[in-house]
Amino acid sequence: MKKLLSFILVFVLIFSCGAVAFAQGEEYIPTVHVTGMANTDLIMDKGLETEKQVFGAEEDDMNTMIQNLVFPLVLFLLGGSEARFAVSLVDAVKPVFEHIKYDGNGESVYNISIEDEPEIDYDYSTFTYDWRADPMTVADELNEFVEKVKAHYAAEKVNLIAESMGGVMTSAYICKYGYSDLNAVIYRSTAMYGLTLIGELYTGRFDFEADELAQYINNFMFGESSQQVIIRSLIRYVAPLIVSPLINKIDRFFENESEHIYDEFLIDIFGYLPGLWSFVPAEYYEEAKKFMLDEEENAELIEKIDVYQYEVRPLINSTIKAMEADGVTVAFVSHYGFSAIPATQSKSYMADALIDTRYTSGGATCSDFGKTLGDNYVQAVNDGHNHISPDNIIDASTCLLPEKTWFVKGMLHTWYSDDYRDLYAYILQMKGEATVYSNPRFPQFLMNSEDDGTTLPMTEENMNFNSDKVTFAIAFDFIKGLFQK
Ligand SMILES: [Zn+2]
Repeated sequence: MKKLLSFILVFVLIFSCGAVAFAQGEEYIPTVHVTGMANTDLIMDKGLETEKQVFGAEEDDMNTMIQNLVFPLVLFLLGGSEARFAVSLVDAVKPVFEHIKYDGNGESVYNISIEDEPEIDYDYSTFTYDWRADPMTVADELNEFVEKVKAHYAAEKVNLIAESMGGVMTSAYICKYGYSDLNAVIYRSTAMYGLTLIGELYTGRFDFEADELAQYINNFMFGESSQQVIIRSLIRYVAPLIVSPLINKIDRFFENESEHIYDEFLIDIFGYLPGLWSFVPAEYYEEAKKFMLDEEENAELIEKIDVYQYEVRPLINSTIKAMEADGVTVAFVSHYGFSAIPATQSKSYMADALIDTRYTSGGATCSDFGKTLGDNYVQAVNDGHNHISPDNIIDASTCLLPEKTWFVKGMLHTWYSDDYRDLYAYILQMKGEATVYSNPRFPQFLMNSEDDGTTLPMTEENMNFNSDKVTFAIAFDFIKGLFQK
């Protein structure tokens, strides 16, 4: 009896302590990270003898591709025919991507699974998916995962951190299932409004030139050690002289042979993936369908991809406003300071090296890459605050949420720093109250320091990374140092 009593006492004690802790502490709200494209690999015939990784490609497949390309490329560069090289190129590259393709109705041709399934974790649960799939189908999977996470932690709501393509899936999910399960959504570098790059590629506007390619690569050569500066200078000023004639030859090749490359490779492999169609911006969409698809043969696919384009994307802005009004915390984090991949006719827009900054920020006005808004520029919307970046490149006043959109310069599309955790934690803790004015640590414009991996408020001193002035100053010091030794 005594034993039983003490047992009950202990039980009551534990229970009441737990209840007190629960009453005093905040309810735990789990966070789900809605990952970007290809965050997990694609596997064919998972668990079977024929199992094979098909995206990213296995090393053997890449090696075979390179081996099959070397001889035709040398022949072509020595004056061989463009048409013959086009055939060799497609024949070499296509097998590497063959197994990711969908049929003309928008269904996977092969038996494909993702390598890593979505995973529940106290810190950040991770939602992974097959990036090729119809976003409306992925939305079902995301909903299922949100329900699982909620049940696991006995939580009523979750936070979503949507990155890159994760923004597309999050938008499809909210459109289909509403936002009653959401406490907060942070949109980081998302593709939900599309990418100019894909719009251009899907309308046949392939184009690149040597100096632009060199400039693009040069953008990634951060750092101010003399070695980095020398490499940067070589790429910037010397490489174009050598590479230019070759690249111009290749550029002409793509111009003349693009029909073969699109018909035999690009359309067949990438043209029928519903996931990628969500990347085509509204202004390119109808033209892209005409260019890539056949109205009758691809009718089922078109029916699928039209849903994101016409039933989800046009509602994103009004839904975000409604979410805010109903107490959901919403914020944007957008990167800039880079041009887009210089593979199309339109490439001067400000980007994070992949997605347009005006898209990832929900509508900022941005200067072109390498330019500023101009000395006489006046903020587009006068709301009593300054929303122009210290470097005069971004006007955030035209954003959907000008007070809740943060910009990070010098941060590539897929990058982030440890400081993002603090920024996210601050946004989530403050609920709807966190704005670009509420914390001096996180003003609207931040600067990534590649040297020490920090994200700091942008100032007049740190706002120009990788500038010619810095390059020349360090190159001069380096040369001076040589003579002093
Ligand atoms: Zn304002």
